[in-house]
Amino acid sequence: MDKFSPVALVTGAARGIGQAIAVELLGAGYGLMLADIDEERGAATARELAAPERVHFRATDVADPRAVQSLIDATIDVFGRLDLLVNNAGLMIRKSPEELSVEEWQRVLAVNLTGPFLCACAAAPHLRKRRGSIINIASTRALMSEAHTEAYSASKGGLVALTHALALSLGPEIRVNCLSPGWIDVSAGAEALSAADHAQHPAGRVGTPEDIARAVRFLADPANRFITGQNLIIDGGMTRKMVYVE
Ligand code: NAD
Repeated sequence: MDKFSPVALVTGAARGIGQAIAVELLGAGYGLMLADIDEERGAATARELAAPERVHFRATDVADPRAVQSLIDATIDVFGRLDLLVNNAGLMIRKSPEELSVEEWQRVLAVNLTGPFLCACAAAPHLRKRRGSIINIASTRALMSEAHTEAYSASKGGLVALTHALALSLGPEIRVNCLSPGWIDVSAGAEALSAADHAQHPAGRVGTPEDIARAVRFLADPANRFITGQNLIIDGGMTRKMVYVE
């Protein structure tokens, strides 16, 4: 890999949307540091990308400040630069708010909101040198809810707000944007989706991880430097749809 190639760090890259982002960025010429708490799956994903010089994996819990600092240090050790941070790692616990323990609440907030904050702060000195950018993967659940998703929704609402705050604090050198996916099928065909699942979307189908990955590539492109502090919703139009029963 030559020293002029941009470098991206993608968290939660072992599967699903994070894995698709890794594939897209590799195709766009990035060197990649992949991070995930799932060591076995993360290492396998990195191997499957079949570009050992350009793709590295490091097992990391993004909620652990020391692990995050050592992830950033390792990225600089390996590649010597960092151009893009994609905060994609996330988890959801579905439980009634009266049954959710305070430890469960705090874990979801720690991974989905504190993790991106820690990664952004540790990456900032390196991103600044490259006039790079941060992309946070939030959710349409920052804006609307199903029952029993309090911790997840609060964490993603916080992530949307963290995005515009960081855009002001870290700009103009570093741009900070957010993507809010709607329903994205990460089952790789394992879950059978019904015709109704697709038809309820104004765009006519459920989303794919690649729908999000392409938007990451667009927002990361330095040609789009005028875009910062934004939350781009990619949900097939679902948050624009009224759902009153007739
Ligand atoms: P996924 O569960 O398939 O993948 C998430 C990855 O994050 C996993 O590999 C997991 O091991 C990793 N992870 C979890 N906790 C971690 C931690 N503490 N440190 C490091 N890695 C950790 O999820 P996905 O559907 O691919 O979602 C990716 C992101 O997109 C998440 O932030 C999620 O909230 C968001 N999102 C997904 C959807 C959807 O419909 N799939 C919709 C909106 C938002």
